[in-house]
Amino acid sequence: MRPETTIQNDDAHVMINPKRFSIRDSMRYMFQEQRLLFLLVGIAIAALVSNVVVVFPSRSPPLQYSEPITGGGSFHVAELTSVPRRIAYELHSGHVNTGVRIPLGLKPKSLRVLVTGGSGFVGSHLVDRLMARGDSVIVVDNFFTGRKENILHHLRNPRFELIRHDVVEPLLLEVDQIYHLACPASPVHYKYNPVKTIISFKAFFFTDHKTNVVGTLNMLGLAKRINARFLLTSTSEVYGDPLEHPQVETYWGNVNPIGVRSCYDEGKRVAETLTMDYHRGLNIEVRIARIFNTYGPRMCLDDGRVVSNFVAQALRKEPMTVYGDGKQTRSFQYVSDLVEGLMRLMEGEHVGPFNLGNPGEFTMLELAKVVQDTIDPNAKIEFRPNTEDDPHKRKPDITRAKELLGWQPMVPLHEGLPMMVSDFRQRIFSHHREGGNTISSV
Ligand code: NAD
Ligand code: UDP
Ligand code: UDP
Repeated sequence: MRPETTIQNDDAHVMINPKRFSIRDSMRYMFQEQRLLFLLVGIAIAALVSNVVVVFPSRSPPLQYSEPITGGGSFHVAELTSVPRRIAYELHSGHVNTGVRIPLGLKPKSLRVLVTGGSGFVGSHLVDRLMARGDSVIVVDNFFTGRKENILHHLRNPRFELIRHDVVEPLLLEVDQIYHLACPASPVHYKYNPVKTIISFKAFFFTDHKTNVVGTLNMLGLAKRINARFLLTSTSEVYGDPLEHPQVETYWGNVNPIGVRSCYDEGKRVAETLTMDYHRGLNIEVRIARIFNTYGPRMCLDDGRVVSNFVAQALRKEPMTVYGDGKQTRSFQYVSDLVEGLMRLMEGEHVGPFNLGNPGEFTMLELAKVVQDTIDPNAKIEFRPNTEDDPHKRKPDITRAKELLGWQPMVPLHEGLPMMVSDFRQRIFSHHREGGNTISSV
């Protein structure tokens, strides 16, 4: 039996059990001396502070990052802006992605992001940005053209994981976002040289097709299973040798379907088709970037692309090899601008495709002049026959990216090139041979 207690009340004598007494007493205590008011004010301040932190997670000052692995002269890549991100919140079971305001009391959880091809040129810069933002990053790479050196500086970070894997094979992971970059990007890797590389070429040829088609299919299948957002890095090559100039996203292109470049061009076009079909048919959240020629530190030294060729040649005091008459044009984008665009695209609400490129247009002869001005005014030029199906001109129309992503390139060629040159100078003249697979130019 519960004991009953008699207490003296101001108003009356009452018989009350101890529990009732304590609640009533507490209420009275609470209403005395404006304690309730203080409590409410405290809760309001706590709510305000936690909402500001949650809703604006990346209002940190602009970051700079530098190359920590090749010793000596580090290079400043660029001023980084803060791309706000979707935040995952941990609930009692599992987690959800959401872009809306979050109820108080849920614990913010960093995003888990998969970057396929993350040890390559663009991928490694993207990984740097994601890591700097506080995400957990998984890199999947088969090191076909990528280098471990590019991501070595993250290996000890518990938020970073590296998996050697070929994306043409199925992959089981749990992530929130997938940046799908895995694909050899240099034309050298998908062009035919009958004398030197017929056997290798066959390997590259099928690798390109498989990577673009089967690899993209696998990553879309993964995105479907785990409900992740998927971003495809497509290419300006989908426009082929364009008959419209500059190229707008609505242009369908002029691609030779049976030419030497078509394994890449058509492979990426199929990758875009698959991406849109998974989006339309299966409701997968997708994003498509059409990347124009990009340059910067960590490019393969001898991958045959024009900027890396000219810079390496000028540094080695070899003549710069201009193909054809050198009047064909390209638009060169610095890598930090591209990474900014990719992240804005991923975090934004628009599928695309979006052109991501720098509209500044240069002939190859003009590019050679900029390299001369930057490295060696006496650097020589040597003309070589042009390659088959080489697009005559290329320049992005970036109106859509400007309007919908609030993005435009910030680094002009004359500012970006010196940052790449100092990286190349260091790597070319260092005593250590560079690791990773570089495929000799045809
Ligand atoms: P890159 O060759 O430096 O990087 C590609 C990475 O993918 C490498 O690390 C490579 O090892 C990896 N890879 C290739 N095949 C793979 C496979 N089957 N499985 C797993 N990993 C694989 O090229 P990049 O310049 O960094 O290009 C990145 C992406 O951007 C590519 O998809 C490319 O098509 C696209 N892109 C680049 C440019 C550019 O100018 N750099 C232009 C247009 C499009
Ligand atoms: N896939 C994968 N990881 C996953 C889920 C799927 O690599 O977590 C691969 C799978 O092996 C398949 C491809 O993605 O080859 C497409 O998968 P999807 O489920 O869309 O198609 P299905 O397997 O039903 O043909
Ligand atoms: N190019 C050149 N010299 C080189 C390598 C390339 O003149 O040593 C030209 C090539 O013919 C093309 C342009 O530079 O017109 C860009 O070539 P790259 O391979 O960099 O990229 P693409 O835009 O063709 O994919």
